[in-house]
Amino acid sequence: MTVPDPLVARVALDVPLPELFDYRLAADWPAAAGDWVVVPWGRSRRVGLVAAVAEGSGLPPERLRLLDAPLPEMPRMPGHWLDLIAFGARYYHCGFGELALPAVPKLLRTVPPARGRGVAARRARDRYDGGDALARAVTPTGSSGGVTSAVDPTAGTPAAGPPPTPGQAAALEALESAVGHRVHLLHGVTGSGKTEVYFHWLARRLAADPAAQVLLLVPEIALTPQLARRIRQRFPELPLAVLHSDMPDAERAAHWLAAAEGRARIVLGTRLAVLAPLPGLAAIVVDEEHDASFKQQEGARYSARDLAIALGARRGLPVVLGSATPSLESWHAARRGRYAIVTLRERASGTPLPEVRRVPLKGAVLRHGLTEPVIEAVRTALAGGSQALIFLNRRGYAPVLACSACGWLSRCGQCDAYRVMHRVGAPAPPEPSAGPSRYRLVCHHCGSEQRVPRVCPDCGNVDLAGLGRGTQRLEEGLSALFPGARIGRLDRDVARRRGAAQSVIDAAHAGDVNLLVGTQMLAKGHDFRRLTLVVVVDADAGLFAADFRAPERLFATLMQVAGRAGRHRPDSRVLIQTRYPDHPVYAALVAHDFERFAAQQLAEREQAGLPPFVHQALLTAHARSAEAATGFLAEARERLVTGQTEPPLEEALRAAVVACDPVPMPLAQLRGEARAQMLVEAASRPALHAALGPWLAALRAGRSAVRWQLVVDPLEI
Ligand code: ADP
Ligand code: ZN
Ligand code: ZN
Repeated sequence: MTVPDPLVARVALDVPLPELFDYRLAADWPAAAGDWVVVPWGRSRRVGLVAAVAEGSGLPPERLRLLDAPLPEMPRMPGHWLDLIAFGARYYHCGFGELALPAVPKLLRTVPPARGRGVAARRARDRYDGGDALARAVTPTGSSGGVTSAVDPTAGTPAAGPPPTPGQAAALEALESAVGHRVHLLHGVTGSGKTEVYFHWLARRLAADPAAQVLLLVPEIALTPQLARRIRQRFPELPLAVLHSDMPDAERAAHWLAAAEGRARIVLGTRLAVLAPLPGLAAIVVDEEHDASFKQQEGARYSARDLAIALGARRGLPVVLGSATPSLESWHAARRGRYAIVTLRERASGTPLPEVRRVPLKGAVLRHGLTEPVIEAVRTALAGGSQALIFLNRRGYAPVLACSACGWLSRCGQCDAYRVMHRVGAPAPPEPSAGPSRYRLVCHHCGSEQRVPRVCPDCGNVDLAGLGRGTQRLEEGLSALFPGARIGRLDRDVARRRGAAQSVIDAAHAGDVNLLVGTQMLAKGHDFRRLTLVVVVDADAGLFAADFRAPERLFATLMQVAGRAGRHRPDSRVLIQTRYPDHPVYAALVAHDFERFAAQQLAEREQAGLPPFVHQALLTAHARSAEAATGFLAEARERLVTGQTEPPLEEALRAAVVACDPVPMPLAQLRGEARAQMLVEAASRPALHAALGPWLAALRAGRSAVRWQLVVDPLEI
C-alpha cells in the first residue's frame, strides 16, 4: 500500500541560506504560491513567502513541520512577480528568498505580536496619502501646482506641461510606435527634456487604462524628492508611490502596499522598486540607465536596469532607457538593433550646449589648485551675476596626511587605503591659527577614525601636512580667492545632516549662493538657471584606473557635470584642468560627441575581448589572509577547468568558459580582511550560465571557511 505524498509549501525565509524550506500544509488551509505565512523556525517563528507548493519533499514526512498561520491582510504575491524573482534568482545565481524578501518592507513581514497594536498591513493601508506628504515636504512655497485634470485623454497631454518641442514630438512618436515589449534607448543631450518625454509618454499609458501603473526608476535616492515634486505637479490626481531605502519604515510600508495593491498609479523609486509587484504595470522608464548605482552592492547583486528589461520582456511591456551617456552595453545593443534608438540632439530651452575647453595643468601656476584662466573665468562669471560650479570628486580636506621628514603616510590599519584628512566644523580662518584638533583622519572604506597626531608616529617630526586637496580645502581656497562670493558646498559629508543638501540646492536656486563647490552630488539632475560656468578641477585620476570601465564612467560624469552649465543661458563654458589635454576622452567631450567616444571604446573592447563582447561573472573571496583568499579561488578555478562540479561539466562547456587567474581585489584589504577575485568569462551568455550553476553547487557543497560571493555582470573589476 502506498501513502500519498503530503502537500508541502516551499517557503522562502529571510535567512542567509540560499535554499527554500519545506513545511507541511494543513488540510483546512490551502496555502498557495505567493502567500505570506508564519512558520516555526527552531524555537521561534518567522515570516516566510510560499514560493511554490509541491507534492512530497526531500525530507522524511515526520521531519516536516506544519505551517503556522497566514500573515494577516497581506496581498498574495502575483504569479508574474514570482516569475520575475525566479528568473532573477536563476540569472544571478542567488537564492529565491535572498532576492524576494529584502524587496518587501520589513514592517510588513514581521511576525505579528500575539496581542498588539493591530495588523501592520492595515495600518500601512490607512497611512497612504497618495504621495502628497512627500510632495509637500519638498515643494517650496509659491510654486505653481497643477490646476487642470491630470490627464486629458483627448489630447493625451498632461496638465501644466510645456508643449513638446519638435524633437520631443518626434521622440514621442517613435516611442508610441511600439506595441508590446520593446526596449527604447532614449539618448538625449543634457537638458534635452528627457523627463518631459517620459511624462508625455507615461501620461498616454496612464490615460489608456484606469488601472494602469507606470514605473519610473532613478539611480539615486537624492534624485527622488525633486522628481516626486515634478510628478505631483504634473499628475496631481494620480496617486504616487515613492520607494527607496531611506524612508521611515511606516512610510515605506504604506507606499509599497499602495503600489502592490494597484492603488498607486505612478511608482517612482530606486533599484529596489523594480522588485515591487505592480499588478497594473503598463510601462517602465529607467532614467540615467548608465548609472552604476542600479547595480545592487550587497546581497543578491542584481542590476535593476537589467531586471527592468527582463520584467518588460516577461510581461510584454515597453521599456524606455534614458541617458545622455548610455552604457556601452545598451549602446551596443541598440546599434545591433536589439533596442530602438531615439535621439534628442538639442536642448529643450533652445540654448546651445556649453563650450568645453581644456586648460593644461602642465607648467601652469596654481593658486589653491586653480589655474589663472580658471580664476579669471570664475571672477568674470561672478561679476556678471551668474553662478559657477567647481567640481572636484574628492570629499574631505586632503586625501592623505604626510610627514615631510620620513615619508610617513596616514594609512588605515584595517584597509589597503589612506585615511583622509577631514576638517571638523566650519572653514578655517585665513590665518592657520587652529591646531590639529580641527582635523580628523577618516578611512572612507571602513569608516574608522582617529585624531590627527601632533607628531609623526614614526619619527616624531612635528611638520605634518595634508597632501592634495578635497572639497573642504578647495572651499577654503575659493573663499580666499573670491572674498565676496557666496559659497555653497555639497558632498556626502554635508549631506549627512538631514536637509542640509536640500538647503544648499535651494540656496543655489534662489540665487543666495553664486559659487558652488562639490562632488558628483552636484552633477546629477539639477537645473540651476543662473549657472554659466563649470570648472573641473582634476579628473585625470579617472583616466588611468585599472578598471576597463574607468574611461566610460569618467566620460559620463564629466558630460553630466558639464551639462549643468548654460541650460537657460547662452555663452556658457566648461573648463577642464588636465595634465593630458590630448586624451581622447577630453577630445570627445570638447566635441560633445558621445557617439564617437562610444565607437572608439567599443572598438577597443572588441579587440581586447571585453564586455559587451564577452559575458563575465566575478567570484570574490574574503578571508583572514591573502593566501587563504587566493588559495580558495585557485581551488575553485581548478574545479571549473577540470569539470569537477555538480553535476560534472561536459568537455564542450568547459572549453566555452575561460577562468582567469585569481588576483587581489583593487582594495586588497578591507576592514582587516583580505580580498581576492577571479573572473570567469564566455562569449556565449547561455554557456556561461550553464557552467556557473554546477560550479556554484560544488562550491556550496565544499563548505569552505572562506566567505565568497558571485557577481554576475560585474561593473567593478
Ligand atoms: P533632461 O532630463 O533631458 O536633462 P529635463 O526634462 O529636465 O531634461 O528638461 C530640461 C529643462 O528644459 C527643464 O527646465 C524643462 O522644464 C525644460 N523643458 C523640457 N521640455 C520643454 C519644452 N518642451 N518646452 C520648454 N521647456 C522644456
Ligand atoms: Zn616622520
Ligand atoms: Zn579602513
